[in-house]
Amino acid sequence: PKDQETSFKKRGQLENVKKIIAVSSCKGGVGKSTVAINLAFSLLKQGHKVGIFDADIYGPSIPTLINKENAILQAPEDRPKEILPIEYEGLKTMSYGFARKKAIIRGPMVSAIVTQLAMQTQWGDLDYLIVDMPPGTGDIQITLCQEIKFDGAVVVTTPQKLAFVDVIKGIEMFDELKVPTLAVVENMCLFVCDGCGKEHHPFGPGYMNMLKNQFGIQSSVQIPIYDMIAKYSDYGRPVSITLPDEHTITKIYSSLAEN
Ligand code: ADP
Repeated sequence: PKDQETSFKKRGQLENVKKIIAVSSCKGGVGKSTVAINLAFSLLKQGHKVGIFDADIYGPSIPTLINKENAILQAPEDRPKEILPIEYEGLKTMSYGFARKKAIIRGPMVSAIVTQLAMQTQWGDLDYLIVDMPPGTGDIQITLCQEIKFDGAVVVTTPQKLAFVDVIKGIEMFDELKVPTLAVVENMCLFVCDGCGKEHHPFGPGYMNMLKNQFGIQSSVQIPIYDMIAKYSDYGRPVSITLPDEHTITKIYSSLAEN
């Protein structure tokens, strides 16, 4: 039917993806990619068909996080305009980091290239596509929101006041673009000292209550600093598939997936 054809032209290979979720942050280094990849694996473990799309052209993290830095993109033989996703443990992944030649891309071109990459990847039928967004709330992010129509967003932050101010910017950007913020993740909120066993809050108590009261954010997830998260990230094996389901870290990520 004609309607279907038009819709396919608009969404390309995203056509059969049921829900597209953006994982976003306003600053780099707060744990956005870590949350994105672990959320993807938690959903996969719950029995869903999942893909992850790395929309960060300037700092792609997904190839490192799944230890596939040497993977090379290929087109299916009969469909030269499509791209085969790189699969890892049942997760379909795509990143500009897999491209053989990485051209220098000027700002205005970024969103067009990222959108094209998302739409040409053979995702097939997916329940969820998690999009690891580039950090920030600028032109690139706004255009991506408009082109890849997100069903919801997860905003990742750390507990400092500066990060809190940015988180509001993020929520407001998604509000304006009619994308509901499904959850705010406060990462690195505390650590448990292995000497004294006490909980320490190196960045203060955080601002979650204020977010709940002022912005009506119902779902918040707090992730402590765990050396295992950093260790397995460096290894290229996300904790959600490494640690048993009963482990606190895995439980936190699966509660985020249930939200
Ligand atoms: P971003 O995508 O926001 O730039 P990353 O997800 O790449 O951030 O995380 C930055 C670094 O912090 C990575 O080395 C990652 O392993 C580490 N990291 C993230 N969250 C945690 C955590 N809760 N505990 C320990 N290390 C973490």
